[in-house]
Amino acid sequence: MTFEQPLPKALSPSRLADFQACPRRYQHASIERIAQPASYATAKGRFVHLVFENLFLLPAGERSIERARDYVAPAIDVVLTDDVRKDLAMDDAMLERLLAETEEIITKYFEMEDPRAINSEGIELRLGVTVNDAPLFGILDRLDRDPDGSLVIVDYKTGGLPNRNYDSQTFANSELYAVLCQEKLGERPAKIRLLYVAQGETIERNVTEVVIKARASAASGAWERIKRYYDDGDFPATPSSNTCRFCAYKDLCRSEGVPVPR
Ligand code: SF4
Repeated sequence: MTFEQPLPKALSPSRLADFQACPRRYQHASIERIAQPASYATAKGRFVHLVFENLFLLPAGERSIERARDYVAPAIDVVLTDDVRKDLAMDDAMLERLLAETEEIITKYFEMEDPRAINSEGIELRLGVTVNDAPLFGILDRLDRDPDGSLVIVDYKTGGLPNRNYDSQTFANSELYAVLCQEKLGERPAKIRLLYVAQGETIERNVTEVVIKARASAASGAWERIKRYYDDGDFPATPSSNTCRFCAYKDLCRSEGVPVPR
């Protein structure tokens, strides 16, 4: 088959993760652009990210917990559109739950760090570069300059904590952000800091040159395959219980004869 839609202009960390999990998912999401219905988890993630983005756009001295709470009500209109509410079948109880969980996250966050003491060099920082012929693009939650002068990628996580033996996937997106920073800004971030704001826990990992090279190479290799599958008109499906479990395209795949596990 030949795709009517053009090849995307760039590869983001989340789309790369789609492709690595299952190339067919990438086809549906990024080539055919078949919308994925909103979930409670994604809506909550967007909601909380917007509150923190607005908080950090304030001058450092004004980033108080009261100001953070001021951004909750406006986020309702921006994030909870009619389409999102329909996808979630949102009723008053669900909205109340979302607001209660957001309040809990804000409280926990202010126990994790004092945003008035943070020197952020980028908020929702958009970076695009070409690495080994692969066009990469990403939006960083925050790029901080720590007191010791090192550059740190900060990513808010609103889901559950990884288990103690967290795998390389936990840091995969942020390590690709590190590639973008090094290529675009000419400086390798020293660290990645994941803020699990629902649990009030922080996980950090150092960024090494080896990691940068490995992530850049994985991304450019994936881009080569994406171009090849696109030209072939077919991205193979790689169904498995893990990859299919939370995939929005299960029904579509089954209708196309893909053996998606029940
Ligand atoms: S349902 Fe499974 S096989 Fe189909 S796109 Fe999703 S992950 Fe791939």
